[in-house]
Amino acid sequence: MSLAHGRSYLAIPGPSVMPERVLAAMHRSAPNIYEGDLVDLTGQVVADLRRVALSTSHVAIYICNGHGTWEASIANIFSRGDKVLSLQTGRFGQGWAAQAEAMGVTVEALDFGLTTPVDPNRVEAALRADTGHDIKAVFLTHVDTATSIRNDVAAVRAAMDAAGHPALLAVDCIASLACDAFRFDDWGVDVMIAASQKGLMVPPGLGFVWVSDKALAVSRSADLRTPYWDWAPRIAPDFYYQHFCGTAPTHHLFGMAESLKMILDEEGLPHVWARHQALARAVAAAFEAWGQGGDLALNVADPAFRAGSVTAARIGQGGAERLRRWCEAEAGVTLGIGLGMAAMGSAEADDFLRVAHMGHVNAHMTLGVLAVMEAGLQALNISHGAGGIQAAAAVVAAGA
Ligand SMILES: *Cc1c(COP(=O)(O)O)cnc(C)c1O
Repeated sequence: MSLAHGRSYLAIPGPSVMPERVLAAMHRSAPNIYEGDLVDLTGQVVADLRRVALSTSHVAIYICNGHGTWEASIANIFSRGDKVLSLQTGRFGQGWAAQAEAMGVTVEALDFGLTTPVDPNRVEAALRADTGHDIKAVFLTHVDTATSIRNDVAAVRAAMDAAGHPALLAVDCIASLACDAFRFDDWGVDVMIAASQKGLMVPPGLGFVWVSDKALAVSRSADLRTPYWDWAPRIAPDFYYQHFCGTAPTHHLFGMAESLKMILDEEGLPHVWARHQALARAVAAAFEAWGQGGDLALNVADPAFRAGSVTAARIGQGGAERLRRWCEAEAGVTLGIGLGMAAMGSAEADDFLRVAHMGHVNAHMTLGVLAVMEAGLQALNISHGAGGIQAAAAVVAAGA
């Protein structure tokens, strides 16, 4: 008999778990979109978006998902025929580059594989080789959600500086903002993108782009800009509707204000980062114990490069997909599928899964997921080492 009835838990890396308070803040009648509370609230959301990125940059808000922010960044940075240096550690880095290519940008890709982070030395070498400065921007995915690799943004910035290259540094933080430490100003980032439904704990529907003065100057001559994606009016609107190129995303703005208050003014950003990292360590500890007695392994071997928001792992002989199905059907928890680790639809693709610990997630939820997974390993006779839950509990006992 299934034990899935009860509150279900979507433990995938977006949409993330949303606080009831965020949903409650959105549960209201439509406000006046010309003046009053909503206009004031928008200014506060923009100011808080700067704070959450440790940034003094410009901020543009779009009604879109993460793919929309990819398009926004590309449209404002490049002209047809310009070149991007794309640093790839998984499916999401590849996707951003593919979108740029489809829009007429020439892509030079550096592929670092699916288990190891970006090597800054290769970035420096590629930029030094670009003596004509054809590369207009470097694309870096902070956390690639497919592989759960977390890249070192400051190290990539240092490589660009060492090469003396003027390209913009553009970073995809869709899976890391408000989960893993990110410092827009300190790390010399020019463009950063995020979306509402991941660390920011709001339903899918809003995309955000942070823009440095240097990137704003570059965008003035970018010929891929179109009226909807042009970030200039959104950053500095003459009229309120220009913030959004039309009707404001009324209810999402109320949700954002509430979630940013919880992150910045209640829990505090350093605690939010530490909580995510502690939950990631608990998941890693369980997998390390399970892997002692079976064909289970974390995707990222070096703890320094593991994401705080999501953990990708392998369970051989299709065990990952069988476990995922068991957890949903028998225990009401949905794990993430493997993405980009093997050809879609192939037998190997069934060896990969992802456990998210992103957003409004605490120790009891992550320990609950891990205990359910261990029950599933038992029920499915997937051989695994003992002590996974004990190891995860020890991480929680040690605290953040
Ligand atoms: C989720 C995600 C995206 C895509 O976002 P969508 O909202 O699904 O379009 C892009 N990049 C990263 C790193 C992500 O985690």
